[in-house]
Amino acid sequence: MALSDVAREAGIVGAGGAGFPTHIKLSSQAEFLIVNGAECEPLLRVDQQILPREKSIFLRGLQAAMEAVRAKKGIVALKAKYKQAVEALKGGGPHEIFILGDFYPAGDEQILVYDVTKRIVPEGGIPLDVGCVVLNVETVINIGKAMDGQPVVDKYVTVGGAVQKPSTFKLPVGTPVRDALKLAGGPTVEEFFIVEGGPNTGKLIPSLDYPIQKTTKGILVFPKTHPLWGKFSPDLSAVLRRAVSTCCNCRECTELCPRYLLGHSMEPHLLMKVLSWRLAEEDKLTEAYLCCDCGLCENYSCPMGLSPRRIIQALKQKLSEHKIPNPHRNKPSSTRALFSAKRVPTSRLISRLGLTIYDVPAPLSDVDYQPEEVILPLKQHAGAPAKPVVKVGDKVKRGDLIAEIPEGALGARIHASIDGVISTITSQEIRIRKE
Ligand code: SF4
Ligand code: SF4
Repeated sequence: MALSDVAREAGIVGAGGAGFPTHIKLSSQAEFLIVNGAECEPLLRVDQQILPREKSIFLRGLQAAMEAVRAKKGIVALKAKYKQAVEALKGGGPHEIFILGDFYPAGDEQILVYDVTKRIVPEGGIPLDVGCVVLNVETVINIGKAMDGQPVVDKYVTVGGAVQKPSTFKLPVGTPVRDALKLAGGPTVEEFFIVEGGPNTGKLIPSLDYPIQKTTKGILVFPKTHPLWGKFSPDLSAVLRRAVSTCCNCRECTELCPRYLLGHSMEPHLLMKVLSWRLAEEDKLTEAYLCCDCGLCENYSCPMGLSPRRIIQALKQKLSEHKIPNPHRNKPSSTRALFSAKRVPTSRLISRLGLTIYDVPAPLSDVDYQPEEVILPLKQHAGAPAKPVVKVGDKVKRGDLIAEIPEGALGARIHASIDGVISTITSQEIRIRKE
């Protein structure tokens, strides 16, 4: 069976981002296969720890993925500070190691491709446009496991921030956040908010029942008094009001924007101006599509503490609701001047975000946790929601297929992550109760 079919059957999706189905990437051909081990979001400690622990399965997955896309080179991109991971990979294999600088956002796919190959992904493009396929470390491990017949049923996740014992766990997909917090000793504060992912690109978790998904890398807890709350608070109208009244159009957000520095047309200060002055400049507004949501503008660059990213996100949403496509296809031949000099060191970002006290190890735990119930959203990936192939009352074993990709659609299969009984099926999710 072709590796892309193996990945499709196993329900593999990008384990660290938007959850793009991996079987599609493995069906392509590329000169370089780049493994993204940057893990550039502060406080996350997954890939740097699982790579040495799962080295042999990682190397099997990598070799097979390189063969599948007919890559001339397989390059594993890591930061020098991930010493154990770097050492583990020095022992030989099909790959080269590329040492990334400790900058944010070194793990942004397009920045990574440029760092490793000096090729610039065109506006509106993907790494494949410049001969690259990029896979996350955990995705490659999942490919290695799928070759042994194991579908995606577990997820590695760092539980950090204001918790008693910051840790990294392997948990069944669908484990409620409540359980993950308990395993980490619980929050250290009474009033808190929880973020899925990193502090820059993550999203606010609406409730403790929220499940860990195939793309969840981090569960981070912060006190409601932390300045980050202002960035995550659901009140977008307040964010907009502040932006309109306070933006001085200093262009700092543009000067440090990684996509602008890469040579793309993205200029957040102009978007802020267009929005503040309520100009209907469609060409400018559609530049929102070029934003990679890294959050540097709101968390680091803006001297007024404004949130260009939140506003640009909302704008992107509106554009796609109105079915206005991304018209930008510029192919920059070089980066902007001072590309390297303007990169933001992670340590400075952590300090600016007020995260220094939470920037601690989150060791990989050996706990073998089985939740009483798992909640498996039918859409944990890019594309169409999966279609249930089970009914309420069915008994399932861990690894059984419970939802299939709809005919002809982009998507990913979903498998039972624990032994149990199907207790609920809705248009959004399937729940399994342990027997
Ligand atoms: S950095 Fe802040 S104040 Fe300056 S242009 Fe951007 S949003 Fe406006
Ligand atoms: S979030 Fe801000 S800094 Fe990042 S790409 Fe978008 S506009 Fe640029």
